[in-house]
Amino acid sequence: MANKTQSLIRPLVRRMHGYVPGEQPKIKGLIKLNTNENPYPPSPKVLAATKAAVDGRFRLYPNPTAEKIRAKLAQLHRCKPENIILGNGSDELLALAIRCFVEPKAQVQYFTPSYSLYPVLAEIHGAKINAVPLAKDFTLPSLAELKNSKWNFRAPLTFVTTPNAPSGRGYSTAELEKLCRAQKGVIVLDEAYVDFAKENAMALATKYPHVIVSRTFSKAYSLCFQRVGYFVAHPELIAALDKIRDSYNVNGLGQVAALATLFDLPYYRANFKRIIATRQRLTDELTQLGFTVAPSQTNFILARPPKFPAQQWLEKLRARKILVRWFKYPETRDFLRITIGTDAEANALLSATRKILASH
Ligand SMILES: *Cc1c(COP(=O)(O)O)cnc(C)c1O
Repeated sequence: MANKTQSLIRPLVRRMHGYVPGEQPKIKGLIKLNTNENPYPPSPKVLAATKAAVDGRFRLYPNPTAEKIRAKLAQLHRCKPENIILGNGSDELLALAIRCFVEPKAQVQYFTPSYSLYPVLAEIHGAKINAVPLAKDFTLPSLAELKNSKWNFRAPLTFVTTPNAPSGRGYSTAELEKLCRAQKGVIVLDEAYVDFAKENAMALATKYPHVIVSRTFSKAYSLCFQRVGYFVAHPELIAALDKIRDSYNVNGLGQVAALATLFDLPYYRANFKRIIATRQRLTDELTQLGFTVAPSQTNFILARPPKFPAQQWLEKLRARKILVRWFKYPETRDFLRITIGTDAEANALLSATRKILASH
């Protein structure tokens, strides 16, 4: 029963469940492989630039349009600054997209499993959800298959996580382009993990007026803490999003750090290579130990463990100070999602896994 204070809150908000972020534990010596953070630190130049910005300028508002970053990104993606909007993390922009393109009660569409924030953002807005299952092996359904499903080619907004989370699967630009061409409403290609993939679909954002590509500095660029993400899209979509965002949505130190990142990309590219090599080794060794590992194009793997249910593995690994992620959804409850850490962290995970298997 709603008490008096509860009755002050909108029924929609009262009823909803908020997003549950992965745990940020304070346990000493814990190996954290649960939230897809990059195991390598930001580049020394990024840290130096950020430290150098800690001064009297805190008094002032930051640049309201992240002008320098947009100019640099425009060079990088061969588009114009007018094609780009920055956000307080890409999560902010995903929320803005719903507010900008979806009437309350209209549809937000996505595949399952994919990023579990989409339904929460849709719910906050009072939008309807059209969650369409991927194939059993987490590949993208063909257009013919979608036509025979509840997929809605006229949904005002569709999110596609590519490469996907938590499956780790990559989708080819060719198949994404087919989907984009068939889709009437806005389609956001959420490329949070694309730097660990073989292909990216950035070209589609400048080719089609209804396609948005979403990127973030969080995962590949070791900058979760600073909260900077961006969209690339047609200038008219960007201008519409720009109207409804907070004036100073990207904080000053975040802007400094993101800009310095763009001037030191080779440092990050070397880390992508290391993470991809560790991903391959972890995939091979876990497979040998009896795990079924989906092929990954991201900085994590989705692995079905042998012998015990996945939830028990979560606890057994935690008892050995290794934290991974387990999702209770029906499509993923048999799997563990494991972030690719350093080689030493991968070795610790493998050693703990062997001990757990031996104790069986
Ligand atoms: C982590 C993640 C994001 C959010 O990134 P931020 O820029 O840190 O808000 C968006 N989409 C997916 C699929 C992610 O995994």
